[in-house]
Amino acid sequence: MKSSLFRAVAASAVALAALAAVAPPSMAAPRRKPAAVRTLPWVETAMQLRDKALTDDTAWNLVEALTTRFGPRPAGQESERRAAAWGAERLKAMGFTNVRIEEFPLVPWVRVSESGEIVGQFPQPLAVHMLGGSNSTPPEGVEADAVIFETLQDLRDAPAGSLNGKIAVVLQAIVRTQDGTGYGYANAIRSQGPEIAMGKGAVAFVMRTLGTDDHRLVNTGSTKRTPTMIPAFAVSPPDAAQMRRIARLGQLRLRLHGQSMAPADGRSQNVVAEIRGRERPDEIIAVGGHLDSWDRGTGAIDDAAGIAITTAAVKLIAQLPVRPKRTLRVVWFGSEELSQPDPTPGLQGGLHYSQDHKDEAPNHVAVSESDFGAGRIWKVGLPAGWQNGLFQRELMRVLAPIGVTFGRDASTASGDFTPMGPLGVPGWNFSQDGSKYFDVHHTPDDTLERIDRDELNQNVAAWAAILWMIADSDVDFRKPAPDYVAPPPR
Ligand SMILES: [Zn+2]
Repeated sequence: MKSSLFRAVAASAVALAALAAVAPPSMAAPRRKPAAVRTLPWVETAMQLRDKALTDDTAWNLVEALTTRFGPRPAGQESERRAAAWGAERLKAMGFTNVRIEEFPLVPWVRVSESGEIVGQFPQPLAVHMLGGSNSTPPEGVEADAVIFETLQDLRDAPAGSLNGKIAVVLQAIVRTQDGTGYGYANAIRSQGPEIAMGKGAVAFVMRTLGTDDHRLVNTGSTKRTPTMIPAFAVSPPDAAQMRRIARLGQLRLRLHGQSMAPADGRSQNVVAEIRGRERPDEIIAVGGHLDSWDRGTGAIDDAAGIAITTAAVKLIAQLPVRPKRTLRVVWFGSEELSQPDPTPGLQGGLHYSQDHKDEAPNHVAVSESDFGAGRIWKVGLPAGWQNGLFQRELMRVLAPIGVTFGRDASTASGDFTPMGPLGVPGWNFSQDGSKYFDVHHTPDDTLERIDRDELNQNVAAWAAILWMIADSDVDFRKPAPDYVAPPPR
């Protein structure tokens, strides 16, 4: 790989001077390139970090430890709390400083029991999960005739009162995509379906799981929580198809049972840790993932991987002989998965981080979360005004050799960092290959076995490189790049 990286660069003295204004070179790494190469030490260090990350064990060891020691880590529950306490100690042992656990109140949602079956002429059991946040059925369960809708729009269009005493079933499948747009579109089935069905008189709601595989696995995930919402369930793709076939043979009748709890006095927490900058420690680049997971798998791809990728990247930088100018902060967010009772949305960890660190918002240079599994990164997006210029070109010189292309769309603070956006904090974004993500997402199959070590490390490589290039420079994403030239209109 080295020979292709260290090709000659036709950078003029003027260009190098301009780049130096954006990102003065650091003396962090020894120069070890052929004489013909014009790469700045600043970029060279990013390349060295990238290459080191590809064979580094830190991320894998973290995912393995989190999933093995704590198993599922549902928001606000004991295993999430223990994982946070363990994480704080592990971060200290890795050399992080200012390590703290920031608690916040949370109403957890606890699955107690669930079952579903087809009754009537063709009786048989169903593979079923209660949706996260669902209210319980009566102790004896709910039994009723089902009305099948092929799409959420069909349910929306059902006449008022047409579902009185019935169970609404939406069979719409999600579409497999690289970037998750299939999930983004279908997500409304889970978040809004139960409320729409209840509005038309339904006594329970069932949906085809938001999964792209065809195995008998069900993915859970949050639906809207209100005290009066009808109980809501998901069935596996084969069960959805089975229900459609049985409905064609005659009336489909279902019996559903589900019990859940929502203890009022719960707590969750964010874990925050830093590598302090050597020159401007008040300037912060914050990255992270979320520590909580759904309750059926061990939360390997969602999102121990994100925690591991970002933490490993920062740790690699901490191992350099010289610290970067700016501070690198990792946040292990609590309670990403669990939506709170209406009207508050989810992201409790993100909301509390933005509140706890509101005064520091102007000091946040940039933020980014890893929360889309462990598939390879294929695209990077920078904030508005950074779609060209020397920083972008130098960044791509580091990332292109590991299969990352550049996205023209401007990025903003996202994921758990979304609440930082309105506080004026810029965000960059890596796009991961999510083609297989929704085969596993939120299912019992979200385990360590679903992670490919090389793909995980390719992520660490990209994160370590960009983190170094931002942290050891003067880039200010709040205004356009000094050498930005707006592209011609398309
Ligand atoms: Zn997640």
